[in-house]
Amino acid sequence: MSISLDTKTFNVEKIREEFPILHQKVNGRPLVYFDNAATTQKPKAVIDAISRYYSTINSNVHRGVHHLSQLATQAMEDSRLTLQKHINARESYEVIFTQGTTDSINLVAIALQRSGLIKSGDEIMVSALEHHSNIVPWQMLCEQSGARLVVIPMNEKGELSVEEYRALLNEKTRLVAFNHISNALGTVNPVKEMVKMAHNVDALTFIDGAQATPHMAVDVQHLDTDFYALSGHKVYGPTGIGVLYGKEDILEKLAPYRGGGEMIESVSFEKTTYAGLPHKFEAGTPHIEGAIVLGTAIDFLNEVGVENIAAHEADLVHYGIERLSSVEGMRFIGEARNRAGLISFVIEGVHPYDVGVLLDKMGIALRTGHHCAQPVMAYYKIPGTLRASFAMYNTRAEIDLMMEGLEKALQMLR
Ligand code: PLP
Repeated sequence: MSISLDTKTFNVEKIREEFPILHQKVNGRPLVYFDNAATTQKPKAVIDAISRYYSTINSNVHRGVHHLSQLATQAMEDSRLTLQKHINARESYEVIFTQGTTDSINLVAIALQRSGLIKSGDEIMVSALEHHSNIVPWQMLCEQSGARLVVIPMNEKGELSVEEYRALLNEKTRLVAFNHISNALGTVNPVKEMVKMAHNVDALTFIDGAQATPHMAVDVQHLDTDFYALSGHKVYGPTGIGVLYGKEDILEKLAPYRGGGEMIESVSFEKTTYAGLPHKFEAGTPHIEGAIVLGTAIDFLNEVGVENIAAHEADLVHYGIERLSSVEGMRFIGEARNRAGLISFVIEGVHPYDVGVLLDKMGIALRTGHHCAQPVMAYYKIPGTLRASFAMYNTRAEIDLMMEGLEKALQMLR
């Protein structure tokens, strides 16, 4: 990675002080938290903002004329502006608050179906590298509409084959869904190029940005994607909140995902008319404090600097690979040229689960299993991997602790 770390503004020890949860012992040892691809820990700014919301402005939004309701509404809409700026959406109403990436994908899949935009004989394309949440909703859409699910193949390194992708695209392709960064392997996909190729056959594009947004700057206008999704809890924010970005003209064409309060213009038993964007897709009382505090998390991320974070994590990936390479029987799963955030591996003769359990006894949290990407595991003919995934607060010293733990675990297991 060409991005360099600005050591004047990035100090990992200072950053660690911002995360109270890191300063504890697990099973009598200092916690080493390497499960950041599953969820990140929260800085004090985020924890305090949740408490501040409930202590000062808690109220329902968009419906009250009273003081607290106005403050809560303002704070939520300010957060939408923060998100708009962060991903460089053209309009704030192109940013829809959802429960997270999974919810964003389901929203689009269901809305496409409701709008009659997917028909029998159409094709929906996903990549071989996807998380289940970027497979199953499209599969359900195919089952209900009679469309066909087509898969972009991957290679042994864990990269998508752009040439095969080009060959699969055709006039029947309606939508292509792929991740920006794979949660199982860390592969960074050539998403801008993939969007352009999909647009050449007039297909829509959906980028799952759950793993990219914690590690890199994202510009949806530059990518020119039709949809982009992210999860708050992966970017140091609360769980149960996320964003769906969609281009205005396409969102306008989509029928609402859920019906209820907040998403209507007028309701009668004869006919209901819907609110404009973004409210058309935000039925019911939203996750108000989540939406507000997601903005706080994004401010925190930008204060540290996404480029600093990327450079720091690239160093950890590089160092981790170097250290792990010395382990007898090591097999890295996923060795894409362009990768970020994590290392996935198996060790000959031992089950990832057993290693994970022993590491936990030493206070080291790694993920073991299929990482909600069973097709990726099937490709490599393995049940799962061990995954060390990094965040801004991780250190080389923690990788050294993982190595000590791993050596001990292997002595016990072999
Ligand atoms: N897509 C990817 C690549 C992920 O890593 C994840 C979560 O791990 C998801 C989608 C689902 O995100 P969420 O559970 O926040 O909806």
